[in-house]
Amino acid sequence: MSNTLTIALSKGRIFEQAMPLLAAGGIRAAEDPEKSRKLILDTNDPRVKLVIIRASDVPTYVEYGAADLGIAGKDVLLEHGGEGLYEPLDLGIARCRMMVAGKPDAQLDGRTDRRRQRIATKYVRCAERHFAAKGQQVEIIKLYGSMELAPLVGLSDLIVDLVESGNTLKANGLVPLEHICEISSRLVVNKASWKMKHARVTALLEALRGAVTQQAA
Ligand code: ATP
Ligand code: MG
Repeated sequence: MSNTLTIALSKGRIFEQAMPLLAAGGIRAAEDPEKSRKLILDTNDPRVKLVIIRASDVPTYVEYGAADLGIAGKDVLLEHGGEGLYEPLDLGIARCRMMVAGKPDAQLDGRTDRRRQRIATKYVRCAERHFAAKGQQVEIIKLYGSMELAPLVGLSDLIVDLVESGNTLKANGLVPLEHICEISSRLVVNKASWKMKHARVTALLEALRGAVTQQAA
């Protein structure tokens, strides 16, 4: 195993909110991923690299050991299944809620007149689990983005999506209807790296834990 620690994360809100925490662990990115096209970023520490990837790809890179560590939303981890990784720390960043939403007059009983309700979502596993727990048989329609559009054009009766302020729903005439779970980003660790690079991984983990506690105080 190499001497380098590789951390996988996505640009945007996770990168922006993770940087102050990583700084507490002595890690500063040499470049801004919004300005650079590089996918592997150096840091001030020659033994630490950041790989910038799609949020939903982070668990895969960490599971296969292409990155030793990663930062991923709980939504992404729930969809991935979280097999093959450790999830030792809630970083408390990129907070939002997973919710069922729809038009204000939408029914929540799982049925319309003569068919099962259709639920459009990027979060198929979470949606399946939520409706199954309520004993409702629904039809899940997998989408990759802009879930808010689905009820407006008759693709679905409801959506399952992440909600922060609710402004995106509101702008599209939708309302949050049911709370599924709270979401925040987690530190994930490759299982082999946890053993083979134990001292460095735990040193970073404890620095991050300290920074999270301080940020929460
Ligand atoms: P992409 O935008 O590339 O399709 P994505 O939507 O998963 O992928 P981001 O928008 O960067 O990527 O979101 C990354 C993570 O931030 C999500 O997995 C989720 O945990 C969290 N997140 C998403 N939307 C919000 C939101 N509105 N408020 C707070 N956190 C959010
Ligand atoms: Mg997004």
